[in-house]
Amino acid sequence: MEVDVLIIGAGPAGSTTAKYCAGNGLDVLLIDRRREIGYPVQCGEFLPAVKEMYSMFPETSDLEELLTVDSSLVMGRSDSIDLISPKGRVYRVPFEGLTLDRRLFDKHLAKLAVEAGARLETATSMHSIENGVAATTLGEIKAKVIVGADGPNSRTAREVGLQRPPARYPAVACQAEGTFEPVVKMYFGSVAPGGYGWVIPKNKRANVGIGFRPDLLKDRPSELFEKFAKKIGVTSFTDVTMGFVPQSGPVARTVHGNAMLVGDSAGHVMASNGGGIPIAMIAGRIAGKTIREHLENGIPLDAYDRRWREIMGKPLADSLWTKKLGDLFFPSDRRTEFAMRVLGRRGLARAIRCTRVFYII
Ligand SMILES: Cc1cc2nc3c(=O)[nH]c(=O)nc-3n(C[C@H](O)[C@H](O)[C@H](O)COP(=O)(O)OP(=O)(O)OC[C@H]3O[C@@H](n4cnc5c(N)ncnc54)[C@H](O)[C@@H]3O)c2cc1C
Repeated sequence: MEVDVLIIGAGPAGSTTAKYCAGNGLDVLLIDRRREIGYPVQCGEFLPAVKEMYSMFPETSDLEELLTVDSSLVMGRSDSIDLISPKGRVYRVPFEGLTLDRRLFDKHLAKLAVEAGARLETATSMHSIENGVAATTLGEIKAKVIVGADGPNSRTAREVGLQRPPARYPAVACQAEGTFEPVVKMYFGSVAPGGYGWVIPKNKRANVGIGFRPDLLKDRPSELFEKFAKKIGVTSFTDVTMGFVPQSGPVARTVHGNAMLVGDSAGHVMASNGGGIPIAMIAGRIAGKTIREHLENGIPLDAYDRRWREIMGKPLADSLWTKKLGDLFFPSDRRTEFAMRVLGRRGLARAIRCTRVFYII
């Protein structure tokens, strides 16, 4: 089969890329190995409010178009985040956001791509890519442009000779039953060594999970997760999943020949808080528009790499800087407690907002 654009992965990055490059007679094929788009949910499902995204990524524009979410896909809203130290000291930071139903949200994004003119094939895996031809469960697919939107363990990256994010932290998430305060909670210290535990409130439920640095792990991930659930009083939960969060910032190059990486596969994640949904979508829009200009007007595909770095490069680099600073303290509860006290509420607010702590521009 021959297509103009083959997009591997129908998560937020792939579906958004497809939406923005489809149409005008271009043959855009979006494939995903999952039978059901968006399921299982491997996510905390938190999406910052548009105004928070503008404050963290001031060079971005038209985020309303991209990140305004229909209320049918929203399971909860919150206006602050509690950062909780190993000894239980609470630092409350104002921060608006919403809790998505990601199972529905990812389906919705894929539907938008199809409405724009892309073709979607589920239960379709890419196995290898050689000389611009992808071997998939649908057979061989030759494409003018190949997009790797296949998540943190991107096979596309490996197949096309690009680097995938070298540091990927495991994270366990679940749906917990109960009544939860409409405030996001992030727990630091040995509950989730090198990362954090979270409670992200939903209607009569919460998304509860932990993300951690694998080299600091003493227990099995499931044991660590159960300890965390017990600590915060969660006894009834379902849909436990495990995934990986890129934690090394964007990769050095996101375009090589006719291939490009978008979203987690490119390391498009805020390293200091692990959030990647809006970043994947912002990068996806840039990718989609660039592919279209490339195919219609011949502009180089490389423009994608330059364009996303211009608007997201600095905040993502600052977020990584803060994460690396955290790495100096996280291995010990005592040092984590100390660092949180020194930073205080304002310093911690800067840290989760992709701003350098101890650094005023
Ligand atoms: C436990 C956990 C909690 C998180 N919590 C949050 C949060 O609260 N807020 C937030 O903003 N971010 C969060 N993230 C990060 C966020 O989930 C990702 O940044 C986001 O999903 C990136 O979107 P993506 O489209 O790049 O990748 P993905 O959503 O991972 O989509 C990749 C798609 O590619 C498909 N695929 C993979 N390989 C192949 C192949 N070979 N062939 C065909 N298809 C393939 C997969 O099936 C998948 O559907 C969390 C991540 C984890 C693991």
